[in-house]
Amino acid sequence: MSKQAVIIYGPPGSGKGTQAELLARKYNFIHFDSGRYIESLVHDKALQKNPIIRRERKNFDTGILCTPTWVLKIVTEATARIAKAGYGIVYSGSLRTMFESFGDKKNKGLLLNLVKFYGRKNIRVLALKVRPASSLKRNSSRRVCSVCGMPMLAKFTHRECDFCEGLLRKRTLDTPSVIKVRLKQYADRTYPIIARMKKNGFRVIEINGEPAPYKIHALIVKKLGLE
Ligand SMILES: [Zn+2]
Repeated sequence: MSKQAVIIYGPPGSGKGTQAELLARKYNFIHFDSGRYIESLVHDKALQKNPIIRRERKNFDTGILCTPTWVLKIVTEATARIAKAGYGIVYSGSLRTMFESFGDKKNKGLLLNLVKFYGRKNIRVLALKVRPASSLKRNSSRRVCSVCGMPMLAKFTHRECDFCEGLLRKRTLDTPSVIKVRLKQYADRTYPIIARMKKNGFRVIEINGEPAPYKIHALIVKKLGLE
């Protein structure tokens, strides 16, 4: 079967990271998280002599957006390596902006590169839909492990990580007022990208994100034809 490139969209708390992780664990996809990748790159000790890395590290550490052309370049390069190694790829927080997705006159967007690496028919866009109330509820009770970063579902929340027994913490992004801003940002920024993908003939699959993650996973497996 041909390798696929799967782009998962969903508001905060929709479980897109969980779904990406499930695909990675069970079907040999590489789960590519741009934020985490950028963080590891700019903090890489071996790269600190590189002036571009130093510039982007400053942006990253002070919460300023990293330079879009640089982000597009490194994400495209990483994607090329993954495709070349013969793996499918699943994104849970990438192709966030029009520029990253479609590029401009001078820069080829990630989407066209995915067409080159995987073939147009092997690109799937999944849009998880959850009600704003569910999104708020899930986010404000969410905890992550301070050691391994493993997210814990709200109803199982206790003080220690199930995986490494590290202390759980609440993410600063998960307060109700911040979540409301993030929800609006998601709608403003992401809906136009999904609409343009549809218009350009990419297959967009809408999925109800309210059920338990394992049920959504089963549905995704079916929709992607992985069984
Ligand atoms: Zn842990």
